[in-house]
Amino acid sequence: MTNLTDRLAFVRLRIEAACQACGRAPSEVSLLAVSKTFPASDVALAHAAGQIAFGENYIQEAVEKMAGLRHLPLQWHCIGPVQSNKSRLVAEHFDWVHTVDRLKIAQRLSDQRPAHLAPLQLCIQVNVDAGANKSGVAPEEALALAQAISVLPRVCLRGLMCIPEPAENEERARKVFARVTDLLGACQRAGLAMDTLSMGMSEDLESAIAAGSTMVRVGSAIFGARARRQAL
Ligand SMILES: *Cc1c(COP(=O)(O)O)cnc(C)c1O
Repeated sequence: MTNLTDRLAFVRLRIEAACQACGRAPSEVSLLAVSKTFPASDVALAHAAGQIAFGENYIQEAVEKMAGLRHLPLQWHCIGPVQSNKSRLVAEHFDWVHTVDRLKIAQRLSDQRPAHLAPLQLCIQVNVDAGANKSGVAPEEALALAQAISVLPRVCLRGLMCIPEPAENEERARKVFARVTDLLGACQRAGLAMDTLSMGMSEDLESAIAAGSTMVRVGSAIFGARARRQAL
């Protein structure tokens, strides 16, 4: 694997192979390219290779990158924590937010979403393996939060997202993913029109797809290794 275009193609092959291995259609799983810490020029390269959707963790960095890429028809996903004081920037610049874990933030995003833009697409982040210092709503509270968010006017609740602890073994990661898949089923049975499972990263996208992921968030396998301090 020598360059970004090759690595991106290889990730697409991994997604296809993972889908085939569990009898799913590759069209059911979309690829979010996580470009945090990488320059706008890398995003442009990935776009030239057909990539449209990009994920960013750091709001300020993302907004600067977007400004330099305004000429391209890109879709921007916020996958980092959203503090109240950053919600307006997020509501004004992103297409999706994957990390909603409180009603208050969803309300702010809905209030602050400009009228000329499409509703902001949201996922609720679920904290399945209960890392005390991790963000995300507890699984038992996910449905109630989803119901409360679903009635907000300027956002569209699309699904659930999780970031499992880096798994020592595949089996454990699969359990986390399966739990979130079950939760989405519970939301759907409760009448919520949610269709997205944002699960899986460079290391575990195969397990996530086997468990039902519809959107994998892949950074280093496409853009290369990041500096350590930039880890979650
Ligand atoms: C950085 C990040 C990713 C991508 O991680 P890789 O291991 O580089 O693929 C995915 N999701 C979230 C929330 C991230 O912060």
